[in-house]
Amino acid sequence: MANPQTRAAKISRRVLIPAATLPGSPGRPSQASPAVPPGIATGTTAVGRPVESVTYGLLVSREVVPTAEHFDVVVIGGGPGGYAAALYGASAGLNVAMIEKNKVGGTCLHVGCIPAKELLETAHVYRTVAEAKAFGIDAGQPEIDWSVAMGRKQKVVDSLTNGVRTLLKGRKVTVYDGHGRLHAGRRVTVAGGESGDVELTGDSVIIAAGSVPRTIPNFDVDGEIVMTSDEVLSIPRLPSTAVVIGGGAIGCEFASMLADMGTQVTVLEALPKILPGCDKDVAAVVERSFKKRHVEVRTGVTVTGHDPGDGSTVVHVEGADSIKTDVVVVSVGRAPNTDDLGLDGTAVQLDERGFVQVDELCRTGEDRVWAVGDCIATPALAHVGFAEAIVAITDILGEQPLPVDYPNVPWGIYCRPEVAFAGMSEEAAKQAGYDVVTSKHRYGGNSRAQIVGETEGLVKIIAEGGPDGRAGRILGVHMVGPWVTEQLGQGYLAVNWEATVDEVAQFIQPHPTLSELFGESVLAMTGRSLHA
Ligand code: FAD
Repeated sequence: MANPQTRAAKISRRVLIPAATLPGSPGRPSQASPAVPPGIATGTTAVGRPVESVTYGLLVSREVVPTAEHFDVVVIGGGPGGYAAALYGASAGLNVAMIEKNKVGGTCLHVGCIPAKELLETAHVYRTVAEAKAFGIDAGQPEIDWSVAMGRKQKVVDSLTNGVRTLLKGRKVTVYDGHGRLHAGRRVTVAGGESGDVELTGDSVIIAAGSVPRTIPNFDVDGEIVMTSDEVLSIPRLPSTAVVIGGGAIGCEFASMLADMGTQVTVLEALPKILPGCDKDVAAVVERSFKKRHVEVRTGVTVTGHDPGDGSTVVHVEGADSIKTDVVVVSVGRAPNTDDLGLDGTAVQLDERGFVQVDELCRTGEDRVWAVGDCIATPALAHVGFAEAIVAITDILGEQPLPVDYPNVPWGIYCRPEVAFAGMSEEAAKQAGYDVVTSKHRYGGNSRAQIVGETEGLVKIIAEGGPDGRAGRILGVHMVGPWVTEQLGQGYLAVNWEATVDEVAQFIQPHPTLSELFGESVLAMTGRSLHA
């Protein structure tokens, strides 16, 4: 079925390379690896690869730096990029050290994906109870006990953090608590944490320093009135009013969560639409939903500053009315956390915005040093960090990884209604020169959506048009509506398998499900249809 040139075909060819035929030394085939002295080989890795050159690095480095602890791989940073590299590397038999200066789990576990989605779930439960009357269940007007809500959020975060720690321990990853800095010769110093001053060397080093919230001039973060995602996820009480500066994914999630729990929210976005980067039909559904829920959305506006008063502030907007608010949530993106990584005497380069410069296999300019995750200029998503970690480790092992296919990674945004997509939007496909055929169908006609009472949203398929005008290869799948982050899987596969409309239309969707809408939207592109 699949075109032999597809990414999936390339992946399966790669996986089928027998371990025994792989080069004897880990790392880049293009780099000269030292010959392995006889008698040093000590066994095989979990994937059956000889580990002699890993051991070779250890012996050489011990001679050169007698005080340093030596590892096959030293990872700087213990967020999704770093801990994924550590776990995946250790599962392949590598001896890995991971350095974390704050909390294992990074942004994602502590001030990102997990606490944000947990609080969005609190909003979902609140809404469900508030709307239960429509199902004949009169639970009265629900009340939020914020301390219980925050306690539950913390319990989920702690449980997942302990899970990662247990996995690292089980795979014998040595975790150092402190600030890691890279020096020439893949020497890494650790300082300022519970591990004390330590010096490590690695045959390979992976930088996974992550990112921090970006801020804007005239909005100093005080954690009381002006906050970023770091503070809002631990906010001590729900505000009556909030201004969210930035209508991107994170800003829309906060706006949705606060609005669903009763806060009067205003979203201020400098660009002409919220959710820039999303297909315009998808962004329009979210904007309509926000308006229906009395979230004020102002696009194309610039904030100039604010005047804090007693327990609230007034936000000034260029050429428009100012807004009085209890809190300001600054959600204007993330900046790479690369200010203090050492790097003197290395060939690791940062770009003008501070991102570590890498090639398509996440290799930096320094021999055998890789960088992954939010500290490189690729989509700032935890699962992209996971994928890059696998690429880096696979490269370290000399197993010829394929680069991450960035334009086709899956995206999920957990506001109400949820957004999920993979591949090109209609605008992007047209800009890329494709003749485009689209199919757009709404959840309003889907049986399961009516059953669960969430009919807002649509599925949009973007396919390449053939010379006869018929839809061919699926270029993008864009969804907005109930639980679409859980439904994207088959759309992601279709795009990345480079499947055609005719191929995907043959597959059966279970009935009644929300995912039928994806199947029906594709089926409709064949020129025949059922319900859609
Ligand atoms: P980080 O998670 O930032 O981790 C880097 C770690 O390295 C940190 O723990 C830091 O302390 C440590 N570190 C840095 N420098 C050093 C040093 N020199 N020495 C020692 N340690 C160091 N992504 C999704 O995929 N899905 C989502 O739903 C999602 N929701 C999000 C919601 C919010 C509110 C935010 C802010 C982000 C969200 N993200 C989401 C993005 C996701 O959190 C990041 O893409 C991901 O955490 C990046 O992983 P990372 O390992 O590259 O960096």
